[in-house]
Amino acid sequence: MKTLRLLVPAVLAVSSVVPSLAQTAGQTGPIAEKYKADADKIIAAAMKDTEGYETLAYLTDHIGKRLSGSDSLLKALNWGAETMKKAGFQNVSIQEAMVPHWVRGQEEASIAAPFSKPLHMLGLGMSVGTPAEGITAPIIFIPDLAALANTPDDQIKGKIVVFNPGWHGYGIGSLHRTTGPSRAAAKGAVAVLVRSATGLAMQTPHTGTLTYLPGMPKVPAAAITVEDALLLERLAKEGPVQVHLKMEAHMEADQKAGNVVGEIPGSEHPEQVVVLGGHIDSWDVGQGAMDDGGGIISCFEAVNLIHKLGLKPKRTIRVVFWVNEENGGAGGRAYRDALGDKVRNHVAAIESDGGVERPVGIGYTVMGGGPASGSAARRQAGASANPAAAMAAMAAMGAPQRDLDESKLTPEEKKSWDTIKQIASLLQPIGADSVSPAGGGSDIGPIVAAGVPSLSPRTVGEHYFDWHHTEADTLDKVDPEEFRKNIALLGVLSYVLADMDGQLVGHTSAAPVE
Ligand SMILES: [Zn+2]
Repeated sequence: MKTLRLLVPAVLAVSSVVPSLAQTAGQTGPIAEKYKADADKIIAAAMKDTEGYETLAYLTDHIGKRLSGSDSLLKALNWGAETMKKAGFQNVSIQEAMVPHWVRGQEEASIAAPFSKPLHMLGLGMSVGTPAEGITAPIIFIPDLAALANTPDDQIKGKIVVFNPGWHGYGIGSLHRTTGPSRAAAKGAVAVLVRSATGLAMQTPHTGTLTYLPGMPKVPAAAITVEDALLLERLAKEGPVQVHLKMEAHMEADQKAGNVVGEIPGSEHPEQVVVLGGHIDSWDVGQGAMDDGGGIISCFEAVNLIHKLGLKPKRTIRVVFWVNEENGGAGGRAYRDALGDKVRNHVAAIESDGGVERPVGIGYTVMGGGPASGSAARRQAGASANPAAAMAAMAAMGAPQRDLDESKLTPEEKKSWDTIKQIASLLQPIGADSVSPAGGGSDIGPIVAAGVPSLSPRTVGEHYFDWHHTEADTLDKVDPEEFRKNIALLGVLSYVLADMDGQLVGHTSAAPVE
């Protein structure tokens, strides 16, 4: 996941929402009563399930990393469709979407003076490369974007800018990664090194996408480890430092890829859809286990279990493995575009893209404006004329969510909020019965912007940003028991939403459907 949401900070929520701030449901009511027996059945099946983890193990160990444009992504798409078909899902297809094809190539960085030392680095996704001989230039250490704005251009011209804003959550960290390169280039920098967006220093670089801002020069940019960023900061205080950076990164022709879609048709209202999923693409390092293999396979297995248990919800439950979340968002847009007016028939969208650590409850965005997608939010913040204001906005996104002020809800919103509390109360047996007023993900961003109610599982979020976008995002990070609890949560949530009388409300300020 790379997402940040302006008003629905699904990703940030993972790291920043302290579970104790969320409201524990404990809500009784007709929905909780009606679905107690079915929910218990789903939870029992999930908690003894082993097939879900085996499916995830196949994806991570035998297909592995799957960046947009790669052959392994195409292999994953075909495997995903086959897996859905074998499970008895209906209307299985790969919905076409063209995705960018960025290639990392060989890359290296090193300190060239005052001594020679290799740096631990990963080029940023979508970065341009360096000339074949590389770039050797003096560095200037700049803590953050606000400091960059206050530094005269002549001090930056011809230099490699090294950012280390510290760790104040993924919002600020990823803002420097996505828009720092363009902002530094606009002031004359020849390349950018940015501290990895993580709080854990284990000499492991974290990649992630950058966004070249319109009208600004494109310079090569890479993430370096926390340790190396701190070393460069110390050396820069002592005197001149030279760094050598060589990257073969480049773009190739777009690839025809797509979203893997399959469903269990509704027994009474098949045209009405509860959609759940995550993204099948990953970065070109690690195995994409937490980000987001665990997300898509927990959604798949949840629906697989509903089907195996013989439960027949009134509405259709659709599973989607969206494509190209990491560096473009083509899958989410293609899904929205293919729906047209039918987006009105989507009664709920659930995205799991915050890792599959122990779930604590359900996030549901019940009020607020139509959310921008994560990358759009970062672009807005990044393009802001005032970097300090952009940083403040991102910091606010990372701040712990306050409890929802229910007195501000309309009667319709209040009813929907109470419904989610009742559903959450069914998850008490797995300790996931809290509700939080923010849920979503960037793949569902386009349909949520059209008014579809936006939800996501909420986890303890202890280690997600330690692993994601690194060589260390491998299957061993996924705890089987915690994974089962995610399956249970997704099964209960999607089943009740697909079967209950009445519907949730989405964003009241969402854009009208065209
Ligand atoms: Zn992700």
